Amino acid sequence: MTKQTWGMAQEALAQTVGQNSYKTWIEPIGFASFDDGVAVLTVPTAFMGNYVQSNYSDAILYQLNMNGLQADRLNFQVSHGAPRATSVPTPTARPVAAAPKMDMQGNPLNSQFTFDTFVVGKPNELAHAAARRVAEGGDVTFNPLFLYGGVGLGKTHLMHAIAHELQIRQPEKRVLYLSADQFMYRFIQAIRSRKTMDFKAMLHSVDILMIDDVQFIAGKDSTQEEFFHTFNALISANKQIIISADRAPGEIKDLEERIKSRLQSGLIVDLHPTNFELRLGILQSKAEMYGASYPDVKINDDVLEFLAHRISKNVRVLEGALTRLFAFAHLVGRPVDLELVQECLTDTLRESDRKVSIEEIQRVVCDHYNLRQSDLVGPKRLRAFARPRQVAMFLAKTMTQRSLPEIGRKFGGRDHTTVMHGVKKITELCQIDSDIADDLEMLRRTLEA
Ligand code: ADP
Ligand code: MG
Repeated sequence: MTKQTWGMAQEALAQTVGQNSYKTWIEPIGFASFDDGVAVLTVPTAFMGNYVQSNYSDAILYQLNMNGLQADRLNFQVSHGAPRATSVPTPTARPVAAAPKMDMQGNPLNSQFTFDTFVVGKPNELAHAAARRVAEGGDVTFNPLFLYGGVGLGKTHLMHAIAHELQIRQPEKRVLYLSADQFMYRFIQAIRSRKTMDFKAMLHSVDILMIDDVQFIAGKDSTQEEFFHTFNALISANKQIIISADRAPGEIKDLEERIKSRLQSGLIVDLHPTNFELRLGILQSKAEMYGASYPDVKINDDVLEFLAHRISKNVRVLEGALTRLFAFAHLVGRPVDLELVQECLTDTLRESDRKVSIEEIQRVVCDHYNLRQSDLVGPKRLRAFARPRQVAMFLAKTMTQRSLPEIGRKFGGRDHTTVMHGVKKITELCQIDSDIADDLEMLRRTLEA
């Protein structure tokens, strides 16, 4: 029965994760057992378990639930004999296994998602400040708090951090954290078992309600209806509500107007895409954490910078890359240097390889600074041309595989040392000049799109 569920979940995953990832990571997973919300899956190696756990657990949990298995945790076992990894410590696996269960059966909280482990930078400082404020548990000043932003930017992390903090500061308060699909799932379950009154009573009795990824209830009529009632009841009772979504309330398709306008009545803050400094900060903090689990692994500084440059999509991918590097370096007993990175992360790097050309970079940079292409590559040394030129060289170096001499040739036949100087200059400026840093981030995003 549950094996069959796993089969269906696998089929659905095949559609969402992509053919290659499916073949490598999902297909080899077997189903062992299910008990008390924990689905036990088997994997051929501990490394794989580790990798799947940090990269696909959300997707797997989601599909299991969609296929009728009320799982809220995953546990990975290495098949044939050995019940659990002994050779490789699993830093990312541990928090999930040890996650405390919440009151009133919310989704389990990840014990690693605290304010302590959240790295604050310009792109997320507002969201972080708002979350901190709510976590103090004082008077309800803005209701709801609506956090939105792209995938992997830290929405769930912040919500869990609020819940952890509240549990410490005000243990008597009832905090309920639910993903929107859990909300929907529980609701449907309640209807089936004719327990909707209990469900409503449970929802209405909480002091703080958090619903993660609310965009998932858009278009689900009866769930929206229930959500709306809960929402109103709690707001009028002055109970704090915290909601996250992948976009602003007004932009969620198929969400009822009255819900949209209700959501807009509180404080709305967005998490911006990460910038280089934030990514580097996160990597440094994670590397320190992993270092405790893998004391034998040495990681070179230039590796973290390289990753922060090359993997700009989302923090989850960044973390996955680091986990993989540590596990791999530990296995083969080598230091983590750029060579190991190339060997171990070929796929990840290829995926975030934007395959942009130098011509494209030049065009986008010219648009941005309102210059002519001929001035960008021409001989003039005016600051108004030289700075954008250096920016374009920097992008060419960090976003393409071209060598310095090749880049020099595309910039009016300049010498490779000129390119090197330009790249260095921009790297330095980024640290001290936020305008340049913002420009770069914007250009990078335009080029990636
Ligand atoms: P979202 O819910 O927005 O999709 P998550 O909160 O699940 O993203 O974050 C994805 C991963 O990235 C998590 O492991 C989280 O701990 C990590 N992460 C995101 N932002 C930060 C940050 N600012 N500092 C530390 N870790 C972060
Ligand atoms: Mg999330």
